[in-house]
Amino acid sequence: MLYFIATPIGNLGDISLRALETLRVVDSVASEDTRKTGHLLKHFEISKPQIAFHEHNEEKAGRRIIGLLQAGQSVAVVSEAGTPGISDPGYSLVQRAIEANIPFTMIPGPTALVMALVLSGLPAHAFTFRGFPPRKQGKRQRFLAVDAESPHTLIFYESPYRLVGFLEDALTVYGDRPAAVANELTKLYESVERGTLSELLAHYQANEPRGEYVVVIGGKT
Ligand code: SAM
Repeated sequence: MLYFIATPIGNLGDISLRALETLRVVDSVASEDTRKTGHLLKHFEISKPQIAFHEHNEEKAGRRIIGLLQAGQSVAVVSEAGTPGISDPGYSLVQRAIEANIPFTMIPGPTALVMALVLSGLPAHAFTFRGFPPRKQGKRQRFLAVDAESPHTLIFYESPYRLVGFLEDALTVYGDRPAAVANELTKLYESVERGTLSELLAHYQANEPRGEYVVVIGGKT
């Protein structure tokens, strides 16, 4: 059996009982970041062989994992943080498992986009998650323009180094919409800034971004 297991996005207390039970019984753990997963397993006193499974070896490691499953073993897939397959490796293995007729399930848990959406105060009944935008301005503006007419709340992941550039482009493409920027969710310095895009841009121009960010932007009204 193949298990996709969500792990904490910061606070280790967010691991679920089923995640721990499953990690204890599987034969091996396919990890995006074996060092980080090693810490997680150690913290919960679990000792398990790990298989590196990341964006640079996804195909080869994916074939190996399918081989183990076909030989009757059980494998848990965890990403560096949060839910595998959400801006993290996982999708290609789901496809392989379907093709090979291998049963798989997921142990659900944290994912930054859902927490940011709920805390944003923006409509949560319909939303579009776009993951990481391109790094360069021109590409990024074209990427943002795809949803310019959408009434759905828009959600993006962004690095601290590109947050200001992203907010500038979002303001250019969408105009001065309501938005929220969630930072360091579940961690000691968790914060959510709410305002219009121009207010948020001014805030992060004055206060250097640090840590992990999710940007939530209101849809077209
Ligand atoms: N698989 C993860 C999930 O389910 O959310 C996402 C992995 S992606 C490589 C990492 C990005 O997710 C970060 O750059 C940030 O945009 C967002 N993120 C992850 N953890 C976060 C946190 N604690 N606070 C804010 N954003 C976070």
